[in-house]
Amino acid sequence: MTLTTNIRKTVTELADGRQLIYFDDCETSLATARDIRDERPLGDRAASGTMRLDALTGDWVAIAGHRQNRTFKPPADECPLCPPGSGMVPSEIPATDYDVVVFENRFPSFSVKASPAAHASSCFQERPAAGRCEVVCFTSDHSAHFSSLSKSRARTVIEAWVDRTLALSALPDVEAVFCFENRGQEIGVTLHHPHGQIYAYPYVPPRTAQVLARAHAHHAGTGRLLGADILAQELADGARIVSSGEHWTAYVPFAARWPVEVHLTPHRDVPDLPALTSPERDELAEIYLDLLRRLDGYYVNTDGSAVELPYIAGWHQAPVRQGREVSRLYLQIMSVLRAPGRLKYLAGSESGVGGWVNDVAPERIAARLREV
Ligand SMILES: [Zn+2]
Repeated sequence: MTLTTNIRKTVTELADGRQLIYFDDCETSLATARDIRDERPLGDRAASGTMRLDALTGDWVAIAGHRQNRTFKPPADECPLCPPGSGMVPSEIPATDYDVVVFENRFPSFSVKASPAAHASSCFQERPAAGRCEVVCFTSDHSAHFSSLSKSRARTVIEAWVDRTLALSALPDVEAVFCFENRGQEIGVTLHHPHGQIYAYPYVPPRTAQVLARAHAHHAGTGRLLGADILAQELADGARIVSSGEHWTAYVPFAARWPVEVHLTPHRDVPDLPALTSPERDELAEIYLDLLRRLDGYYVNTDGSAVELPYIAGWHQAPVRQGREVSRLYLQIMSVLRAPGRLKYLAGSESGVGGWVNDVAPERIAARLREV
């Protein structure tokens, strides 16, 4: 199957029935045939756990005890995301090489195969953790980073995010789809191979719900989209703009809460990644790579070398079934690093009551990112 811009998609299945999908670059050198079967004796696939409602806050919490057994920082020659080669542990990916590959997580927080709920009282509500968790490998090169990918490869990843957002949004229990990347040990990454994840949640997560409520109120009061007004005011002010193109602008938010935080938003009002046009996806590949390279030059070690910035990058898309008319797509990138070797911990105020304190002025973050 060929997607737009000649990116090829091939759907296959792993030994335990999980789906695995190859996305090939438009100028790929890989062969078309992908008939290599996964011969591992995997047994039954793991079920996800349950979700419990925190009666104090109204937030759902996924309880997934089985995830304690997942692969934790394996040596490079046992990486399950590298194509099978000399490694001792068979790879999750059967093909001898790949460009971009997406597959269902072996240890999912949310799954179509979810454990049944055992509790139901006014304070103890529980439901199956239905949904889906997928892994997205950006390259077969173990030592690469997203920022070192070619523009063409970044474009393939964008097409994979679009494809998966559409497919996961169509699942019966899914209310929100979140594509994200955790990069760096400081973020708690357990596999160093360059990869991201996609969570398809059976509920609207708290931050999404909070942003949606603000967007509804803004629209009711002004008739305009909150995200569009924020972008217009950032552009008019200019002090926090990092970079801008024909279709996208990156800025440090006015009330940034992390030591390094950037939002990247399209100029047109779109609810999610699938709504982007082909020219918008093309420029996104370019401006996102530029942004990641700026982040990697943000801090400099005493010996003059650049610090590989640990970061979380996540796509805030409109929920699947509500508020799409007031939601506006944006990417949020944030880092916990407040100086080389120094982490910002979410301590008493942030973890206890959600009272954020940022020691760095957002205008200074933007100025530094512009000069990198
Ligand atoms: Zn690897």
